[in-house]
Amino acid sequence: MVDACGKCENCLAGLEQYCSGGRTLTYNSIGRDGKRTDGGYSQHIVVDERFVVRIPESVALANAAPLLCAGITMYSPLRHWKAGPGSKVAIIGFGGLGHVGVQMAKAMGAQTTVLDLSPEKRDDALRLGAEDFRLSTEPETFTSLDSAFDLVISTVPIYVGLDRYLGLLARDGVYVNLAVPAQPLSISATTLLTNRRSIAGTRSGGIAETQEMLDFCAEHGISAEVEVIHADGIDDAYRRLLAGNVRFRFVIDNTTL
Ligand SMILES: [Zn+2]
Repeated sequence: MVDACGKCENCLAGLEQYCSGGRTLTYNSIGRDGKRTDGGYSQHIVVDERFVVRIPESVALANAAPLLCAGITMYSPLRHWKAGPGSKVAIIGFGGLGHVGVQMAKAMGAQTTVLDLSPEKRDDALRLGAEDFRLSTEPETFTSLDSAFDLVISTVPIYVGLDRYLGLLARDGVYVNLAVPAQPLSISATTLLTNRRSIAGTRSGGIAETQEMLDFCAEHGISAEVEVIHADGIDDAYRRLLAGNVRFRFVIDNTTL
């Protein structure tokens, strides 16, 4: 975000991401000047000082860049639903968001399990702090982990078969959906009734929380793993992105634009 109304109840609570007066996104929004924002493709961005955060010196800029989106999107639900010592967290999908979320959940003291489609992700998941890695393609994963977690955060667009994931929740557990699938989510009411489960969604985080997240990452040595590319490599990177072949975020060096 580069702007929000600053006056509504959500802005006043430091939750600009839910601004009811209309927030301005860094990319593809209309700013106060009536022009579209171009995000990371810009050479300069004019921004209200309230929307500027400080990148701690110990986090390299290229590694910090994805924290401003993927990082805060994982940090905010982990904090809101109190991931910490004694809590069990499952992260669905080990990509740009998941690989940062695992590091954060571990640093908060939670026991974290990663579920993903690809067995090749196992080593990285364990290296970055997961206590367990399970394949979401194996039915056994869902039977053995039935009612095992306090918090399940999905970073992938699952809309059918959601009940299998809700079934992972222990009593009063919360399933947080961060993805935006094209189809409506399909769930069985019975799965929700069992264990008094909840389903929720969140949208990035406020500016104060974004600063808190950056400071937390610096303190715990957390960063996004990135591949830095030049502007002329964008098309190739996009093809690799569609094929799921990126570890774990591409960052464009904008001096090459
Ligand atoms: Zn507002």
